[in-house]
Amino acid sequence: MPLIEVQHLSKSYASGDETVQALRGVEFSISQGEFITIMGRSGSGKSTLLSILGGMNRPTSGTVEVAGTDLYSLSSERLADFRSQRLGFVFQSFNLVGYLTALENVMLPLAICRTGSKEKRAAARDALSRVGLAGKEDRLPNQLSGGEQERVAIARAIVNRPDILFADEPTGNLDSKTSLEMMNLFRTLNGAGQTVVMVTHNPENCDYSDRSICLRDGQVVVEC
Ligand code: ADP
Ligand code: MG
Repeated sequence: MPLIEVQHLSKSYASGDETVQALRGVEFSISQGEFITIMGRSGSGKSTLLSILGGMNRPTSGTVEVAGTDLYSLSSERLADFRSQRLGFVFQSFNLVGYLTALENVMLPLAICRTGSKEKRAAARDALSRVGLAGKEDRLPNQLSGGEQERVAIARAIVNRPDILFADEPTGNLDSKTSLEMMNLFRTLNGAGQTVVMVTHNPENCDYSDRSICLRDGQVVVEC
């Protein structure tokens, strides 16, 4: 059974008097353990697709099944639970909380869990070490480089051991050397079994993934 199964997916947005058709009849599946890049020009529907896969944006039609669960048939409360327990997200703007340390930022998704604070700290430390930040737990975001801040954001996304790690242009604001380090980190996490679905417009990033899904004008095409 595929980990993600997308069928007949369409999404339109109302924009003033017009309707923007962001996705048109998208279909594909993703297996457990794959590293997928979603490619395409600006405006081709990449972020729309990622947010729908991640349970954050209801499609106009079609279905998304994650591990056998039809996401948008869930109540919004159960969908929110599913998201926080099973999915991890990294955004281009890392959204770190400036007055919290790296460790505290990584602990944030655990706030609602019932586990004790000792276990939460241990899980956050472990996530930070998996992204190569052992020893920097007590730094504030402004005491970290851009690449290190991104690592904190990745640690926060994986602290719950999600089934899928989603990332929307995570290297978009980074210089090319840091961007390369980040792709290697995603590769390493994937090597340890993490399923990764990443939006990127940089064709070089595709070399790190097992497979690319290319979008053009909201449709899957063979080549971007
Ligand atoms: P990409 O990430 O590939 O740049 P997007 O998914 O952001 O593409 O956008 C696809 C299309 O949908 C674009 O034409 C964009 O302007 C439009 N769009 C995206 N989000 C919205 C929104 N919230 N409201 C209206 N139009 C949107
Ligand atoms: Mg986008």
